[in-house]
Amino acid sequence: MTVTVRFAPSPTGRIHIGNARTALFNWLFAVKNRGRFIQRFDDTDVERSRQEFADSILYDLHWLGIFPDQTEYQSRRFESYDAAVEKLKAAGVLYACYETPEELDLRRKVRRTRGLPPVYGREALKLSAADRAEYEHDGRRPHWRFLLPNFKSDPFETERTEIHWNDVVRGEETVDLASLSDPVLVREDGTYLYTLPSVVDDIEMGVTHIIRGDDHVTNTGVQIALFHALGAEAPAFGHHNLLTTSSGEGLSKRTGALSIESLRESGIEPMAVASLAVLVGTSENVVATPSLAELAEKFDPEATSKSASKFDPDELVVLNRALLHHMSFAEVRDRLMLLGISGDHAEPFWLAVRGNLDKLSDATTWWRILREGPQPAAEFGDEDREFVGQALDLLPDEPWDGNVWKNWTGAVKKATGRKGKALFMPLRLALTGLESGPELADLLPLVGREGTLARRP
Ligand code: GLU
Repeated sequence: MTVTVRFAPSPTGRIHIGNARTALFNWLFAVKNRGRFIQRFDDTDVERSRQEFADSILYDLHWLGIFPDQTEYQSRRFESYDAAVEKLKAAGVLYACYETPEELDLRRKVRRTRGLPPVYGREALKLSAADRAEYEHDGRRPHWRFLLPNFKSDPFETERTEIHWNDVVRGEETVDLASLSDPVLVREDGTYLYTLPSVVDDIEMGVTHIIRGDDHVTNTGVQIALFHALGAEAPAFGHHNLLTTSSGEGLSKRTGALSIESLRESGIEPMAVASLAVLVGTSENVVATPSLAELAEKFDPEATSKSASKFDPDELVVLNRALLHHMSFAEVRDRLMLLGISGDHAEPFWLAVRGNLDKLSDATTWWRILREGPQPAAEFGDEDREFVGQALDLLPDEPWDGNVWKNWTGAVKKATGRKGKALFMPLRLALTGLESGPELADLLPLVGREGTLARRP
């Protein structure tokens, strides 16, 4: 059977680096197993779901290098969910309930004071047809609960019922169905909660592996029971740990914190995001990994820690620098062109400056300095000004070869007796206006003889 995974966010906001972790775990799992990746939008909540968010999620996935084999929207699949509801009703495992939230709250409190677990006591199962008719007559609409198979013959005599699975990430897992309330599958306005559509889709779309955050571990017990109630075998499950910020806060689509979009806009490379999103909270070191293919080689779901993983967004900047440092000209040529960096000098320029960039767009600063001169020009004391003037008088004629910097500074050293910082710093300041930056040996040929002489202070 073809390995088939899905990434199933609700399109209610922009995805963040924690969502990217889920998407990438699925994508890399598919890559490793030559499988298929389904992009599924869990948009049954039509009030909060927006096409604009679905589009932005697809855009973010493409930017990360994820290209789904199939894209699905739950809002277009209600017929399938309605059919599943009929099937469950016919089997007697979906029952109508009429309690208001306040009534349920009160019942929970009563159960607690009696030392009972605060789960739903299945009171609605005791309603007669006449009771139900009366509720309906009063204008109450039912919500529908799934009767969990946690009893032998009497649903009021629940007993420990263990659901086991061998989690792709966490190993052996167990959920006791007797510790859970029968989940509501359909709300009183007829809308679906996430649980049923998710299982119906996973069945109909042939999903073989459900990889998602560990906030869903308990759902998995319920969902496995639901797979069985619908006559299907449950797929394999994997639950990865969640990411939190350094202060321990969870990430939320709603706040937009650390959204993929904001990271992209601040100049973070996709592979910096992917490297951190996949490797943090695992036994692998978080290192800048240049491609998803290489990341797939490092990816091992079992190496993921079981506890939440803190990460520091500043790590992204470190990874970004490391990626840019090794990026070939071919990889960035088009992007440099969009920044106005092109022509014969573009490649040697890139090779000269890439080691000094925090983000790719910083290249424009260096491009401008080299072409237009230091901005602003450095200020020199009398002695240094005289020294730079003397040095410029010794600048070799063109054509230059790769040794021009060495030859020139050798001659300057001999003529002036200056060496080390006293020799190089005034020349660096004259050429760039800055105290640090790329190797001058690489920059000088890019400035050229005319440009260098024009920098005479
Ligand atoms: N829409 C659910 C979520 O974002 C999907 C969970 C799942 O993968 O089943 O949490």
